[in-house]
Amino acid sequence: MRWENLTVESDGHSRTADVALFGADAVTTRTFDTPEFRGITFHEVRARSIINRVPGASRMPFEWTVNPYRGCSHACVYCFARKSHSYLDLDTGLGFDSQIVVKVNAPDLLRRQLGSRRWLGEHIAMGTNVDCYQRAEGRYRLMPGILSALRDHANPFSILTKGTLILRDLDLLVQASEVTDVGISVSVGFTDPALWRTVEPGTPSPERRLDAVRTLTEHGIDVGVLMAPVIPFLSDHPAQLRATVRAIAASGATSVTPLVLHLRPGAREWFMAWLGQHHPHLVRRYERLYAEGAYAPKWYQRRITRQVHDLAQEYGIGPARAGMPRRIPEPVEPVDEPVSGPTQLSLI
Ligand code: SF4
Repeated sequence: MRWENLTVESDGHSRTADVALFGADAVTTRTFDTPEFRGITFHEVRARSIINRVPGASRMPFEWTVNPYRGCSHACVYCFARKSHSYLDLDTGLGFDSQIVVKVNAPDLLRRQLGSRRWLGEHIAMGTNVDCYQRAEGRYRLMPGILSALRDHANPFSILTKGTLILRDLDLLVQASEVTDVGISVSVGFTDPALWRTVEPGTPSPERRLDAVRTLTEHGIDVGVLMAPVIPFLSDHPAQLRATVRAIAASGATSVTPLVLHLRPGAREWFMAWLGQHHPHLVRRYERLYAEGAYAPKWYQRRITRQVHDLAQEYGIGPARAGMPRRIPEPVEPVDEPVSGPTQLSLI
């Protein structure tokens, strides 16, 4: 009984009861008839708790998270968080992209929980499930209140995002970084514009994301780039890896961390349907590459990691040059066209 009696009114709202999963008392459902939000339904909830402990078995390097949203209109086809929408009895495909849960009381709740004597001021990670700077944030403006609370309590935190909207909160980020540890990571897996448009259709372009990295670093905030995902056969050609690392280096990022595409249940079905539609000749190769489960084989992951690390070294990404946008010379040879055919993993 997670979403009983839910009704939707255009440019209006309605109330429902019993959203036990969120610990919320009620849901207000809204749609907005503006081009930016057309086709998106927002479910506003008042959560009872906002700091979440990551389950002990998690592979994540953080223990506490704050996620003001569920679902993400950035709509990345491969998004691993899709599965979590099924816990709400919501669809993990289009539903994940267009049914967005908004914890409207997140800033107040966080401020209260940070002030509790039981809270020990540990690191809080944001953007770990879905993007806290997705389009909805432009309307709901939850992050300024969240960042203010973290700043006022000098509580260390990190943000992972693809949203250039983070620049709206630049002043708050600078203020917070003066009193506590602030880690910002921007996700840019590749720079190929054609691939971006189809596989990450709701996100700002990779170029705009790297511009955001540049602006943040120019304001003294260290930003690492999570080069994720590297998509087998579509963004893993050596020329593509080079172009991406080069652009990341030029943005002034302090580090680059590659991560190969993984396909957990929920994301896997959606991604494979997309692949069948856009790159049908790759379907069999993906079935073989991901035959063992959600992750590509270790040898493949190691190869990508080594290539990216070598390129990072070549382009001088490292703490010694942190915070300074780099002047990277134009490549002397033209970058190869992206290769989606069978050039990379002929053994598979
Ligand atoms: S931006 Fe992140 S959370 Fe949003 S759809 Fe893309 S991968 Fe998922």
